[in-house]
Amino acid sequence: MQRGSSERELAARWEAEAVAVTKALAAAEQVRVDSGAAGEPERKTPEEQPKDPAPAQPRAAEEGDARVVPRPPPTLPLAKPQAARARGLCPHGKPRSKGRGGRRSSGRAADEYHSQRPVTVDSSKAKTSLDALKISIRQLKWKEFPFGRRLPCDIYWHGVSFHDNDIFSGQVNKFPGMTEMVRKITLSRAVRIMQNLFPEEYNFYPRSWILPDEFQLFVAQVRMVKDGDPSWKPTFIVKPDGGCQGDGIYLVKDPSDIRLAGTLQSRPAVVQEYICKPLLIDKLKFDIRLYVLLKSLDPLEIYIAKDGLSRFCTEPYQEPNPKNLHHIFMHLTNYSLNIHSGNFVHSDSTSTGSKRTFSSILCRLSSKGVDIKKVWSDIISLVIKTVIALTPELKVFYQSDIPAGRPGPTCFQILGFDILLMKNLKPILLEVNANPSMRIEHEQELSPGVFENVPSLVDEEVKVAVIRDTLRLMDPLKKKRENQNCKLSSSSLSMAAVDILYIDITRRWNSMTLDQRDSGMCLQAFVEAFFYLAQRKFKTLPLHEQVASLIDLCEYHLSLLDEKRLVCGRSGPAGVRPLDSGSPPDSTPSAPPVEGHPPSCTNSAPKAAHSGHALS
Ligand code: ADP
Repeated sequence: MQRGSSERELAARWEAEAVAVTKALAAAEQVRVDSGAAGEPERKTPEEQPKDPAPAQPRAAEEGDARVVPRPPPTLPLAKPQAARARGLCPHGKPRSKGRGGRRSSGRAADEYHSQRPVTVDSSKAKTSLDALKISIRQLKWKEFPFGRRLPCDIYWHGVSFHDNDIFSGQVNKFPGMTEMVRKITLSRAVRIMQNLFPEEYNFYPRSWILPDEFQLFVAQVRMVKDGDPSWKPTFIVKPDGGCQGDGIYLVKDPSDIRLAGTLQSRPAVVQEYICKPLLIDKLKFDIRLYVLLKSLDPLEIYIAKDGLSRFCTEPYQEPNPKNLHHIFMHLTNYSLNIHSGNFVHSDSTSTGSKRTFSSILCRLSSKGVDIKKVWSDIISLVIKTVIALTPELKVFYQSDIPAGRPGPTCFQILGFDILLMKNLKPILLEVNANPSMRIEHEQELSPGVFENVPSLVDEEVKVAVIRDTLRLMDPLKKKRENQNCKLSSSSLSMAAVDILYIDITRRWNSMTLDQRDSGMCLQAFVEAFFYLAQRKFKTLPLHEQVASLIDLCEYHLSLLDEKRLVCGRSGPAGVRPLDSGSPPDSTPSAPPVEGHPPSCTNSAPKAAHSGHALS
């Protein structure tokens, strides 16, 4: 996709999810197809950068690296899972850069410059994602700085962690604390808190215990269930904390088989119920790697890539029994393990072989009559709920690393979700990867003993799209460009026409209602006017996107008004100075339908507008 191609294309690849976590989590989900407009970063000149950079932090591992250096958990008390708001639902929606001390670029000349210059990306720390990143930047016609840059860049692409570099502005593709949060033990703990609160909602994660701490509890609970149901013959999987690529994983039938001696003390682990009845394709077990973009923590914005990878075992599956427990090619789907099997099939096609696109699996299931919309929506809700479980602690990390009011970047991150489909098609979360491999080549044995890295078609197809669309969603100049064009009045719709529309619709609706005590527009009239304006303003989009785009536009202008009021409040009438934020605040001719209503009115629209999203 080229830069400037339609939002529809982008939305077709990503499912945008905005979630309201309410007390009754069950009712929390609000599916949202986002217009993809990114927040506006606050830029700093090099002189504004603090002289004392933050101390270097231990580095975390990229998927495939040997080991992760653990970092102590945050010391602040855990925040309660609060209401996460869809961007469209938060009051005046301008939360991302709050508290930052950066100065905005000012003046028309600067705006013109912003509208023309390419987005700059520092790829000097991209590591193994470099190849896919390069292709994406080229496709977008952005500017790459492979060796870094003296001046700040718009986007910093880190291969490993937030702390790869000291950054004080722009956007960085890692959240502080994410690597720690998705380690096996931390993830299990975070999900368990939610399982205790909302057992029904969080039944997508296998029952887990943390070793060695909970070994006695594990033994006692297993015994209790067995006593109650002697026919229960469970299998458990032991996974070392911080491990990856199947490293150190093994299966047991009984707690007494766990290798407690020595290793667990030095290397804690999670022991988990083993899912014995996975969905099989061609008699083989497989899992799904889905890419999820966490675009913002507050408000919570999650995008799920439409396509992912399916990684296949290389030995036909049998339910675990004492004889096959150690058959890793039968039970573990890791690519890094199965590639060493003689049965591994490299394929040029995305729908055959040992690594395929997830979409090809869905096609195949669909052709067999499976309701793949249901499968997708279950996966989406698994992803959202998992991110919700991680969010409180992530916010603590965020606030301690990038305190409000201090210079710092905004963050986003691509996460790799590993999911197993059970035979009954229920998705089960296996793990979350903070640094999913973005390699687009693989090792191939050309002749016995001779290996070469060759491009992997399936990896390239999926991963380049994920990176490129992530960049597009994070495009810092996009909002500016959009706002330059985003004035409701245009040659085809004058301000007078907007006024007439307002009067017409108000009169018509008021004449229909019996109760005429309220003056102004009733809600239905407001919705009609809003939809009409959205259709006029964003002609080519489907209706739900038109409405979402207009909401974004209105929120943007309302946030400018807010800022203006803030400045007025702070500096008093004498000290008022104009805020320079891209487009003039009073170019909000859409004001009648929107400004005339309290935030709750503006807020009611997105719920309806965002509920329609195309899953296929
Ligand atoms: P790693 O980070 O080492 O890859 P995972 O948690 O992803 O660890 O587990 C490795 C593999 O083991 C998975 O890809 C999956 O095939 C299998 N596996 C993990 N947990 C379970 C489980 N609870 N039930 C069935 N299979 C599992």
